Amino acid sequence: MSRKKKPIRTDFRKNRAPRTRRNEFTRQYEPTEPTAADDLPRDERISGKGELTRRRTVLADEAADAGAAGFEMVLAVDEKSCLRGRVVSVYGLTSTVETDDGRRFECATRRILKTLSTGQRHVVASGDVVLFRTEGAAAGIIERVEPRHGVLSRASRGRQHIIVTNVDQLIIVSSAAEPRLKPNLIDRFLVSAEQNRIEPVICLNKTDLIDPIDLQPLIGAYSRMGYTVILASARTGVGIEPLRRRLAGRQTVFSGQSGVGKSSLLNAIEPGLALRVSAVSRETEKGRHTTTTAQVIRLQQGGWVVDTPGLRQFQLWDVVPEEVGNWYRDLRPLVGLCRFPDCSHTHEADCAVKNGVADGWLDARRYESYCQIREGNLE
Ligand code: GDP
Ligand code: ZN
Repeated sequence: MSRKKKPIRTDFRKNRAPRTRRNEFTRQYEPTEPTAADDLPRDERISGKGELTRRRTVLADEAADAGAAGFEMVLAVDEKSCLRGRVVSVYGLTSTVETDDGRRFECATRRILKTLSTGQRHVVASGDVVLFRTEGAAAGIIERVEPRHGVLSRASRGRQHIIVTNVDQLIIVSSAAEPRLKPNLIDRFLVSAEQNRIEPVICLNKTDLIDPIDLQPLIGAYSRMGYTVILASARTGVGIEPLRRRLAGRQTVFSGQSGVGKSSLLNAIEPGLALRVSAVSRETEKGRHTTTTAQVIRLQQGGWVVDTPGLRQFQLWDVVPEEVGNWYRDLRPLVGLCRFPDCSHTHEADCAVKNGVADGWLDARRYESYCQIREGNLE
């Protein structure tokens, strides 16, 4: 990711510049708000004293997640007159924002946020937590975008395109049978989660079809690496309560190959949920909505589920072969011990990873899936 500084010229019409700007500006620097100060652009110059316009140049991080949030700290936002909500979808210039109590508002974006958005395609993306001013019962203006974490993006014509922000966890659904268990595919999803710094949770569904004892070696291996594994059956209800607890108050992406029971699990967690998810996806597939950002669905118990067909199938997330070893928690401690610093751990001599497998330190199956992913194989 490039973090080059790029000067951005912005025009201010006087009637858009907040009147109390100077005061607001200094207030932001009070030591009581250290995090706000951290997010400020490092350099800002204001020039021009004309009646109609002022100009300023800000030096901005071009990184996708630097976003509008940092800039917006400088601007006056009267929090008391605003509502807080989550962007559940973005269609063109309009964002649908939903509050925690389920009210929906079609929101435009405050002009200054848009002017500052040159480094990224969307100044507002699905998943964003925003402050917005209401205009009537169902409309509003987004005044501020809160700092983001868990950003999923993909490269599109040389730019990072944000799919969804603020993803707290990735639930990797696999079935114990029908379709057969594919641990190598779980590993592939784990790599994507680690790469995006999103906490993964492994959910093994359809456990009613097998003897859970058979899963013990696999569960043991993942648990030793620090991953949470949930055994579930959408049919019998096993594991649904733990899943429900994991979803509460978080924003979750469900992924896994088709047929493993994602929809069935969603419905077991909250009746009708899968239908709401698939309705959204169908509309997206039909091309009714030209957006490629994700849709976010609110859970009654609190929390959010993210869905796009691409996310579910995980077609979007590119992995750099040379980096795969870093995303394998069990390989990572060994990769620095190989003779060659650029060791691929496949054919080189004095490879600590291969020795680890030979000596029984490392799971041979994990090593095998590592080799497959390095070669670009999905399964
Ligand atoms: P998705 O493609 O991942 O959303 O999978 P679905 O939820 O559509 O499920 C695929 C099939 O597996 C359906 O026929 C479900 O009835 C079945 N299924 C889902 N969960 C379970 C389960 O826990 N046990 C069994 N035996 N079948 C299940
Ligand atoms: Zn090596």
